[in-house]
Amino acid sequence: MTWTRSRYLLLGERRYRDRAGRTVRMAYSARSAALFALDDATAGRLAGGDSGAIAAIGPELLAELAARHAVVDAAEDELAAVLGAYREGSDAPGSRKITIMPTSYCNMACDYCGQEHFKAPVDNARVERVIRRVEGVLADPATDEVVVTWFGGEPLLALRVVREMTARFTAAAGRHGKRYHARLVTNGSLLTRRTLRELHDELCVRTLEVTIDGPEAVHDRRRLKRNGRGAFHRTVASLAEAVREGTVPQLRIGIRVNVDEENEDTVPDLLVDLACLGLASPQVEIHPMPVHSWGNDVSAVELGARRYAAREAEWLRLARSLGLGFPTMPGAVKPTTCAATSRHREILDPSGRVFACSEHPLVPGAEAGGVVATVDELTGAAPRPAGAFDDWYEQVGDGRQQCGRCPLLPVCGGSCPKLWREGHVPCPSVKFNWAERLDAAALDLGYRPVGAV
Ligand code: SF4
Ligand code: SF4
Repeated sequence: MTWTRSRYLLLGERRYRDRAGRTVRMAYSARSAALFALDDATAGRLAGGDSGAIAAIGPELLAELAARHAVVDAAEDELAAVLGAYREGSDAPGSRKITIMPTSYCNMACDYCGQEHFKAPVDNARVERVIRRVEGVLADPATDEVVVTWFGGEPLLALRVVREMTARFTAAAGRHGKRYHARLVTNGSLLTRRTLRELHDELCVRTLEVTIDGPEAVHDRRRLKRNGRGAFHRTVASLAEAVREGTVPQLRIGIRVNVDEENEDTVPDLLVDLACLGLASPQVEIHPMPVHSWGNDVSAVELGARRYAAREAEWLRLARSLGLGFPTMPGAVKPTTCAATSRHREILDPSGRVFACSEHPLVPGAEAGGVVATVDELTGAAPRPAGAFDDWYEQVGDGRQQCGRCPLLPVCGGSCPKLWREGHVPCPSVKFNWAERLDAAALDLGYRPVGAV
């Protein structure tokens, strides 16, 4: 067999001294989401890409590199293999992910949000239909696990509905011997010590994604509640208390920071505040995200992707120096790009309509065209009908999308087919700042840059 460098291997340029005094360079194999150091000579052989030089790497190390897919058989069509894995992951019936919007209302009115919120009474018949759908999926012998994402509007405004549905889901999961857990995406304003405990202890929420847009004054200006009050203090205090007291040990907390030109300069202050207020914990991760278009016009505040990535690399270094969780490189290969690329994922809106893409419901202009069915039409565990983006891997495979040429495809999947279609480039920041991220990882490992004193 002739070994060749994988097209999905990233190699850092900078040299470091490891603890044993060896000169190393950092490497990341996107096909296995593995981050590792390579001695300088091996890195040099791989960087050159010459198969003779690679063959000289020694069988033991070559076997290790092959296990990480850092080197591959020259005869392998790697793009086909990666797309094959995506198709398999998208079609796998065992893992079902269902996003439920228990309410169409939100108690905030953020300028950059593309959703249109409105109050509507709870429709009990609709709630029952959604419950039956999830019960049907749990009853299917092919299902191993169901993960429900509570999404909004603001889902905590409908906590009673979340309770009622969860009781039925966990009962069905117990009856059929299936795994069940939930994620919750929230603006954080209704979080209290008691709610956090209930989410964790009774409602099986294992991942919480809370949006905090800046230090108190900035967050409370950008994410003002409709009653005119800010929510920063209560949100952060509730989270910090739960983390400090260890009351929600199985909960992973993601803090999403929506960044645009208006708040980008305040991100460092926010990081310092979050660390000082007690959120430097292995339970918590910071997730900054550039604000992107939902079809409304935010082009004035959209940051150039490269400029954003450069700033984000600074925040990454600061966050890690403060002990805040901020992932360097993606830690897992994706099974599918997103909800819109797997018919085993679906979004159920408050009126019982089924969507494939999470940015269609409640979004004026996109909503009507995004409905793929009503929940009544989904029988048993049948996958949802195809949506607008279920042909994504064909587009990547035949060259219509540049993602087919990208070394990050196995961990990115193309990010957001909807944004590509609308003419935006949705590449995550790692595309532009992976070298800085590899440097941060090297420092975490205790490596010293060569030349540093
Ligand atoms: S297409 Fe984009 S917006 Fe729609 S579910 Fe996928 S990632 Fe989300
Ligand atoms: S979205 Fe960007 S980073 Fe992701 S696979 Fe496509 S080109 Fe690569």
